Amino acid sequence: MASQFTHEWSGIQKFPPATQDKLLELLGKLKEKKMNRLTILVLGKGGVGKSSTVNSIIGERVVTVSAFQSEVPRPTMVSRERSGFTLNIIDTPGIVEGGFVNDQALDVIKRFLLNKTIDVLLYVDRLDSYRVDMLDSQVVKAISDSFGQEIWRRAIVVLTHAQLSPPDYLTYDEFLAKRFEAVLKVVNVGARFKKQDLQNFSIPVGLVENSGRCNKNENDEKTLPNGTAWIPSIVETITKIALTESKSILVDQKLIDGPNPNDRGKLFIPLILLFQYFFVIKPLQRSIKNDIDKEAKPLWA
Ligand code: GDP
Ligand code: MG
Repeated sequence: MASQFTHEWSGIQKFPPATQDKLLELLGKLKEKKMNRLTILVLGKGGVGKSSTVNSIIGERVVTVSAFQSEVPRPTMVSRERSGFTLNIIDTPGIVEGGFVNDQALDVIKRFLLNKTIDVLLYVDRLDSYRVDMLDSQVVKAISDSFGQEIWRRAIVVLTHAQLSPPDYLTYDEFLAKRFEAVLKVVNVGARFKKQDLQNFSIPVGLVENSGRCNKNENDEKTLPNGTAWIPSIVETITKIALTESKSILVDQKLIDGPNPNDRGKLFIPLILLFQYFFVIKPLQRSIKNDIDKEAKPLWA
């Protein structure tokens, strides 16, 4: 990966000391396991806060944030180095356009990722959305189709706008539980996880509040309404994923032009049709013909 673009991670010094300590501790955990590089891919619909989240985690304004529909046209990789550890975060344009998944945008992203290894996927949406719908499961399905279902074993569902006031009849934690349930359901369906898959695995959820108006605790750390300092918390979840058993996703040429990794079975369709022709349709035609021949002279004749 283009090391000439790797800068010293100076943004980390802008975090309050308590956050810095926690981040360095987590990087230390990765280095202990001989990991000295981590690549995070950020995907989601437009306007959900992908770029803002990249900036928040890096602690610098590195990618463009826009309140209106004018996004980075291309994926961007930001690389930062800190005591021999390299953190890469890849920001991407939204993959939905006009209410549909934009396959072209996904293709551009895939080609950008050629020969890169994705250790962690941040699938970003908003906490304060009113509902999930078909489009959400289509976005998830498109990601599975592009990178394989296994990418979800390396994923964190990230929900932005986490500093919200829930409706009067719900506490913040009750609201979280309900929204998590809805989003995870749509992700599990879109990723085509089966019940038995979900028995010993569930995708973690991370909360993010990118606003400059985010509340802070006595250590000057940005906190959510439930008191969590969210930056150390999400970096901890990222670290956990990075250290799981499941394999990172290598985006090679085969993945890019190969058949959709979830649809390999489609290759057999012509074979199945041939089989049906010779072993089902042909014998059937033969037996019908025999019957007709036998009955050539009608019984009543
Ligand atoms: P992207 O299109 O997914 O990259 O979204 P952006 O990061 O460009 O954000 C879209 C808009 O939402 C911008 O106006 C951001 O300032 C705003 N935004 C993003 N994340 C948050 C958040 O957590 N809280 C609040 N209040 N605004 C956010
Ligand atoms: Mg963006």
